[in-house]
Amino acid sequence: MKFSTKAIRAGQAPDPSTGAISFPIYQTSTYVQEEPSKHKGFSYARTENPTRKALEVNLASLEGARFGLCFASGLAAINTILNLLQSGDHVIAPDDLYGGTYRIFTQLYKKFGLSFSFIDQTDPGNVERAIQKNTKIIWIETPSNPLLKITDIQEITKIAANSGCLSVVDNTFASPYLQQPLRLGADIIVHSTTKYLSGHSDVIGGALITDKEELFEKLKFFQNAVGAVPGPQDCYLILRGVKTLPLRMEKHCSNAGAIAKYLGLHPKVKKVYYPGLTDHPGHNVARKQMRDFGGMVSLELKSGWEGVFRFVKNLKLFSLAESLGTVFSLVNHPATMTHASIPKEVREQRGITESLLRLSIGCEDEEDLLADLENGLKHV
Ligand SMILES: *Cc1c(COP(=O)(O)O)cnc(C)c1O
Repeated sequence: MKFSTKAIRAGQAPDPSTGAISFPIYQTSTYVQEEPSKHKGFSYARTENPTRKALEVNLASLEGARFGLCFASGLAAINTILNLLQSGDHVIAPDDLYGGTYRIFTQLYKKFGLSFSFIDQTDPGNVERAIQKNTKIIWIETPSNPLLKITDIQEITKIAANSGCLSVVDNTFASPYLQQPLRLGADIIVHSTTKYLSGHSDVIGGALITDKEELFEKLKFFQNAVGAVPGPQDCYLILRGVKTLPLRMEKHCSNAGAIAKYLGLHPKVKKVYYPGLTDHPGHNVARKQMRDFGGMVSLELKSGWEGVFRFVKNLKLFSLAESLGTVFSLVNHPATMTHASIPKEVREQRGITESLLRLSIGCEDEEDLLADLENGLKHV
């Protein structure tokens, strides 16, 4: 099956008792057993739920993998991976890692004796130089947040394999429609299904995907042991969202491409960050490993805080909100919102200035979105 067929069908045969084509929400905590230890594969809903199972099979198939596991949030999925490590182990991660992941690493796990190096992975040489004897995981996130830096997945996973480390790719920003890291050598993929996979700003969820049975067994053990599992209604919403992932991604990408081009020519805009622009430093790598360039665009205004404030206040379609990857267009001010917890000097050094805005381009009409930005920029 090809991608769109899988998105609609994988893991979801029509319900055998009724023929319902839409996969049922199995709202149950337990399952009646015929006799002790004899059941139909389901004993308790923390361990297994049919709606969750359908989603797990579906997401694994989209990444071309055999195994999927779903969690109550992206961070619950990320936390599960860290259970693979022992005190004394070392992790290499990007210097512009998703803030919540950075927080788990530095505020929850450092105290258990794990250490972390945060480096610029756009140069694979930096990764090679950061490897220590105790390095166990190389964590990759591409495109990155909010500057949309591109990391060469194939290069970095090769370095990981040669050094006996696991490679993990957070594939939330691209979605499996645009980028399939297992095919590029990754061991584990993480998704916040809150974003493009569900796509409608109505549910929180996460997933882990792997093709390695031994890793899957370990991660599945942690999933059940810790219990940060999603409910069946949430799984249903994500399954529903995934059915239109290819359609939505096409629209996100075409809208984003047009908006990046428009902003690049605007006299009040200092800089546009979008991997689809040929002058983006990661453009060629993005072209190699992605089907298209995604729905996230960041921009730096020439004006300082006051202009930024007026711009955001005057936007009507771009809603000021955290999160991304849904049908609604959103605008985020990283310095005061998603990246506010990073110390100011570090933030500015990385290019996350007061004048930077991150746009999550939705699926509204291109003309309406361009008109909204035009109006916002008039007030800068
Ligand atoms: C949102 C996000 C997460 C965390 O997911 P939640 O569902 O909010 O817990 C992790 N990584 C990336 C890249 C994200 O955008």
